[in-house]
Amino acid sequence: MKDEYYHKGLRKKMIAHLSEHGIIDEEVLLAMMSVPRHFFVDSAFSKTIYEEKAFPIGEGQTISSPFTVAYQSQLIELAPRMKVLEIGTGSGYQAAILAQLGARVHTVERQQKLYEKTKEFLAKISPGVRCFHRDGTLGLPEFAPFDRIIVTAGASEIPILLKNQLAIGGIMVIPVGQKTQRMIRITRRAEDSFQEEQFEAFRFVPFLKGKV
Ligand code: SAH
Repeated sequence: MKDEYYHKGLRKKMIAHLSEHGIIDEEVLLAMMSVPRHFFVDSAFSKTIYEEKAFPIGEGQTISSPFTVAYQSQLIELAPRMKVLEIGTGSGYQAAILAQLGARVHTVERQQKLYEKTKEFLAKISPGVRCFHRDGTLGLPEFAPFDRIIVTAGASEIPILLKNQLAIGGIMVIPVGQKTQRMIRITRRAEDSFQEEQFEAFRFVPFLKGKV
């Protein structure tokens, strides 16, 4: 895997596109400039991967488009050293971006093959990220509470177990809906008080129950 001059050029273009479309968080833009997105997909996509699209990563799953990754990364308002739970490891790209932003990342994947492949890959490229083969609807209770939770698959409803693994003051970003999803941000104000805000519409692969 090489990060060539032209890949950096493609990343610059991607960053320009993101900032023209409302991504204003400089830290997020910098992280996406420094992580080579083409490392996370088959080499057949190494030039096109910087376009605003989702790409196949095997097992019927996709790596989210650059805008989707940037949007979720911006919406969770990360600060360095925060403990973060990601649901849907997939290619590991979103996890690597969160780690680049200084988070302590725990990421959960239900598909065994993707889990194994990505765990091995992330150990080289982003060694601080901890990978788990789990059903994400259950969260990761033994590591809770989390400062931030980010769900990268489309949920039909907000899993209650996940909400309850947020620290007080913690934030969860989750796309909710059937065919298309609305991005929802949930802030835990107190033990029994959650604030919900709605943002733009997206299209994610489904958040499924159970691990395989
Ligand atoms: N964040 C990923 C996006 C992958 S697509 C990336 O950057 O590449 C969403 C992922 O969520 C898929 O890999 C899918 O297998 C996984 N997923 C779906 N339902 C899940 C569940 N219940 N628990 C854990 N992972 C799940």
